[in-house]
Amino acid sequence: MPATRRNFFSWTRNALAASGLLGTAPATAQAAAASGADYYGKLGVTKIINAAGTYTALTASIMPPQVQAAVAEAARHPVRLAELQQKAGEHIARRLKCEAALVSAGAASALTLGTAACMTVGNKQAVSLLPLETSSLKNEVIIQKGHRYGYDHAIKNCGIRFVEVDTLDQYEKAFSGRTVMCHFFNAAEQGQISREKWIEVAHRHGVPCFNDAAADVPPISNLWNYTQMGFDLVTFSGGKGLRGPQNAGLLLGRKDLIEAATWSNSPHDETVGRGMKVAKEQIIGMVAAIDWYLEQTDEGMQAEFRRRAERVAAALKGIPGVQHEIFVPPLANAVPHLLIRYDHTRIPPLEVAERMRKGTPSVELNPATGHKSGSAGLPNAEDAIIVGVWMLQPGEDAIVGQRLREVLKAAV
Ligand SMILES: *Cc1c(COP(=O)(O)O)cnc(C)c1O
Repeated sequence: MPATRRNFFSWTRNALAASGLLGTAPATAQAAAASGADYYGKLGVTKIINAAGTYTALTASIMPPQVQAAVAEAARHPVRLAELQQKAGEHIARRLKCEAALVSAGAASALTLGTAACMTVGNKQAVSLLPLETSSLKNEVIIQKGHRYGYDHAIKNCGIRFVEVDTLDQYEKAFSGRTVMCHFFNAAEQGQISREKWIEVAHRHGVPCFNDAAADVPPISNLWNYTQMGFDLVTFSGGKGLRGPQNAGLLLGRKDLIEAATWSNSPHDETVGRGMKVAKEQIIGMVAAIDWYLEQTDEGMQAEFRRRAERVAAALKGIPGVQHEIFVPPLANAVPHLLIRYDHTRIPPLEVAERMRKGTPSVELNPATGHKSGSAGLPNAEDAIIVGVWMLQPGEDAIVGQRLREVLKAAV
């Protein structure tokens, strides 16, 4: 074992002992041994400390133990997929106070299935016309110009075309006989038409409204706020703040639309959704994640994330020029993040990120580090470091603080 690794392990042991976490280690090790081989180790895949956040490229989130256990249990038995999909949907709809729900293969998949639903509702045989033969169907989706984003490709996958608007007046005039849906990006930083107005105008024209709130829990109540506000369809990512399986998501909303979405979903062939399979393990994982999430409180989560940010900051005490603040983005990823300012002329933030990545253990800082703009709601961090603390595992905040201290001290 190289010295740095050994140091890390003894250091980790001390840190865990200090935080009282070591007492649970034997049980955890036993559980790990019972649950199978370490294939990351076998394959030589680097395990990382996620001080970034719920980024898909970093495998986003870790399922809480009770969700992992539910997934493992589900893996032991075959079931009838249609029955599982239906009963899982009913449970989720009940818990999230909406008419109906479907577990999708992520929020992007829900965007495709929800759009397909709007295009085919009441016209089941039309599902096979998507995406290329849509000329006989309504196929225009209205969207605010400032709400265009990378994920709207998932809507385009249905063969629609976007009609872009800026002002309320343009919105009113954008409806045609071909308008099939009005799309809203919940965390958009631009766009002048409010959610309420967006819904009101669409409904006056008899057109359903979709809200993409994929990254917008916490607060927990957002899980029902937007359907209750009147959006006909709402999606959340299952593998972000909800900490369900990475390849799961939620499509919530109107019963007739959710039913139409299932027509385009796996296992049905000749549909846009056949490749968006959600296995029984992920469906159960999604349900279990919701049950877990509804046991949490907003106050409890915010306080925990704040404590972690403060622990990381405390490790940097005494390094000349280091200042920190804790900030909470307004809508997406609305949890405490740590922003660190320091003498970046000695070592630029991107270099800090690279050294953290190359160190042992390998730490990923928030990708907004060293960049003008990150994900929605993150501040300009061109000269700063951002630590996303909410996906850290117990004890990792201390490790991130220690590693950051080493990297920054080496540069002063
Ligand atoms: C992450 C995200 C998605 C995609 O979610 P997946 O669950 O990874 O498919 C879609 N829309 C927004 C706004 C997101 O943040």
